[in-house]
Amino acid sequence: MYLFDTHCHLDDPRLFEQLDEVLARADAAGVKKIASIGCARSLDGIRSALEIAHAHPDRVVATIGTHPHDAEHYDDAIEAEIRAIAEDPKIVAIGELGLDFYYDNSPREQQKEVMRRQIAIARELKLPIIVHTRSAAAETLEILREENARDVGGIIHCFSEDRDFAKEALELGFVASFSGIVTFKNAQAIQEAAIHQPLDALLVETDAPYLAPVPFRGKTNEPAYVAHTAAKIAELRGVDVEEILERSWENAHRVFGLS
Ligand SMILES: [Zn+2]
Ligand SMILES: [Zn+2]
Repeated sequence: MYLFDTHCHLDDPRLFEQLDEVLARADAAGVKKIASIGCARSLDGIRSALEIAHAHPDRVVATIGTHPHDAEHYDDAIEAEIRAIAEDPKIVAIGELGLDFYYDNSPREQQKEVMRRQIAIARELKLPIIVHTRSAAAETLEILREENARDVGGIIHCFSEDRDFAKEALELGFVASFSGIVTFKNAQAIQEAAIHQPLDALLVETDAPYLAPVPFRGKTNEPAYVAHTAAKIAELRGVDVEEILERSWENAHRVFGLS
């Protein structure tokens, strides 16, 4: 029984500087597949996640997109490069993209515009999208709806909304990927969403190096720890962890179009 970490940042220096060890520990923990998220914030280093996927073709796939934090750096040149990179067969999704009105690192109007432009690329290339949303639930759903994101569907990553949001997102073709946050004591709304999420629409991720699950909270997160998130979801739902592993593994392959 294996695990698929559907969202982590292997090109972050905290992981990349010890990548062989990180991948070995993941392997030992049963994490046989990893999606490394490519963050297009400038032309420099824009292929780093893809390069990791090419170096570890059996274990790692990649994505490419501009994070809402970096929306103010998005321009025609970056868009053209995202398009070019996305043609690579190791690229399984566009993103992460979306809205983050909690940090507001980029102006909100620009975040919305960049989200819309990337959904258009995904629809053109027929790739699913990975959505980052924080403190912008209504606006995120509105844009997904207006831009017909349902045509490609995808993932609400690091799910941190409630059960109602999960239901609306699923109606738009978006499954929920739960991170280590679900193991935190104060995360009742997210835990409730994890309990009620249909089993064919549930994924697990680390978002490493961020957000390590209990008992590693506060430390550098890494793919090996995704097992703790799966175990917590099984405990919350009162099912065997094998069931969560099997279903989330299948779901990840389906969403990313992998066999
Ligand atoms: Zn994110
Ligand atoms: Zn991320």
